[in-house]
Amino acid sequence: MKRVSKDRLSWLNTLYEIARDVNSTLSLKKRLNIIVEKATTLLKVERASLMLLDKSSRFLTIQAATGLSPAIIRKSRIKIGEGISGWVAQKGRPLLIQDLRKEKRFPIQEKGGYSTHSLLSVPLKVRGKTIGVLNVNNKRKKAVFTRADLDLLSALADEAGIAVSNARLFEELVEANERLRELDKLKSGFVANVSHELRTPLGIVRNFIFAFQREMAGEVSSRQKEYLTLVEENLGRLERLIDNLLDLSKIEAGRFELKKIQTDLSALARRVFDAFQRKSDEKGILLRLSQFKKLPFVYVDPDRMTEVMTNLVDNAVKYTPKGGTVTLSLKEENKQLLLSVTDTGIGIRAKDQKELFQKFRRFGAGLHREKGVGLGLAISKEIVTLHQGTLSVRSEEGKGSTFTVMLPVLSDEAFFLEKLASEIRRAAGEGEVVSLVVLELFNFEAMRDQIGEEGTGSLLDEVVAVVKETVRRPTDIVTSYRQGRVIAILAGADRKGAKVLALRVKETLLTHLFSVQGRTFPLEVRFAIASFPEDGQGQSELMQKIEKTLSSA
Ligand code: ADP
Repeated sequence: MKRVSKDRLSWLNTLYEIARDVNSTLSLKKRLNIIVEKATTLLKVERASLMLLDKSSRFLTIQAATGLSPAIIRKSRIKIGEGISGWVAQKGRPLLIQDLRKEKRFPIQEKGGYSTHSLLSVPLKVRGKTIGVLNVNNKRKKAVFTRADLDLLSALADEAGIAVSNARLFEELVEANERLRELDKLKSGFVANVSHELRTPLGIVRNFIFAFQREMAGEVSSRQKEYLTLVEENLGRLERLIDNLLDLSKIEAGRFELKKIQTDLSALARRVFDAFQRKSDEKGILLRLSQFKKLPFVYVDPDRMTEVMTNLVDNAVKYTPKGGTVTLSLKEENKQLLLSVTDTGIGIRAKDQKELFQKFRRFGAGLHREKGVGLGLAISKEIVTLHQGTLSVRSEEGKGSTFTVMLPVLSDEAFFLEKLASEIRRAAGEGEVVSLVVLELFNFEAMRDQIGEEGTGSLLDEVVAVVKETVRRPTDIVTSYRQGRVIAILAGADRKGAKVLALRVKETLLTHLFSVQGRTFPLEVRFAIASFPEDGQGQSELMQKIEKTLSSA
């Protein structure tokens, strides 16, 4: 093994320490300060300064220094080519002067009472280009600068060069990102404005077409009516396109709001299918709806989910030739609701499937190219994702495709907690109050033993209906919750208001006869109330209060 000399080892050690200390911080200012401090101690000098060229590369200013007053540092400004630093910056070569008095080239300047007898100055370079200089002045104890000093200062200058260049790259990156964000904001705003502005005149055009079609402006021939229908259809396409663009700009800006409610997806699916009946009949395509049993509700925005289903069924009908079948099926699996649209159409090539859900992606050519712009799937995917669901595809070219939407099915409890949290957030934002009323049925366990799960299930459904009827405000939420409980979230009601309502519900329940499987039950309940902000700031605090009241009742 090659022997490494002691000198060399200590040199490597020094270099390692310099790099380690300089890299211990991310701030450029701190890095440069560490470098001049190292230069001062390692080279045993009175002063050190690090100067950088400005953007025009014409002037040098001090960025970090030791042994100089802040006033001198602030005022420092040296023209390239002038004085010692100016010379080094211009030539890009180091300079070592042991006795300045003997130097003819550089007249002695004793600015601010600082005298210089010896100095070492090296250029700072980035990719071969000089960007500044690193100076040290007056070796202590009148010692002379050595070759080793020059090497050390050059090593420090290299570190400074790297630090400056990294910082500048980072700055450029931040600036570029900032510009991109600005542009993106401008684009989203532009799209939103333009879409909005386009929507208004289109509405007016639609009104006049309607007037023509109804012959409100005189008789219209059957040929003219046909043309008007075409105009109307294309107007519809234009409106859909504008709506899609508007939706996307909202999604991208994070301003897309979902109005989630407990929703029966099969009812929505049937409506979507009805809407496509005529189109599929005309095209000679069979529409099938397949669902095996009653499905749980899902907590979704019904309008947005209708949009997703419409997009999927529309595509399936569009890309399936005459004689084909489009099947929409719904089922529950592992606490998920699966909705799939299967067609026996042209299918999608494996390589296209990867890009299917991106904006403005359209595939196929010639006969296979249908009207559209390639936004439907991108938006559908975003909507499903906003619902914490997934949208995926399986497809084989020439055979057909299946698009599957998977949505989480929330338990009554999870649904309720999400609802409660969002109501509290809303109330807090608007400086409002909100109350929680929990009704617990007496003898629930005994009842369940008599009439079973299903019996108590329908009993609770009936109680929910009675409570809803009593509360009677559409903004209030009533649901059955855990064994034998019905819970109501009353927006805008404080403790007192909630109590009045709870007592009224209790009365009503007492006079109402519930009958299940031929038996009648008198229903007695106890209740607990917790109000925001009176009883707590968050849902868990309110729920704790409810549990405490119920268990002590
Ligand atoms: P658009 O239908 O407006 O073009 P989409 O985003 O809905 O936009 O669809 C993008 C592309 O995906 C379509 O242009 C088509 O090439 C392909 N595609 C979508 N659905 C199907 C399908 N069921 N069968 C075959 N190709 C499809």
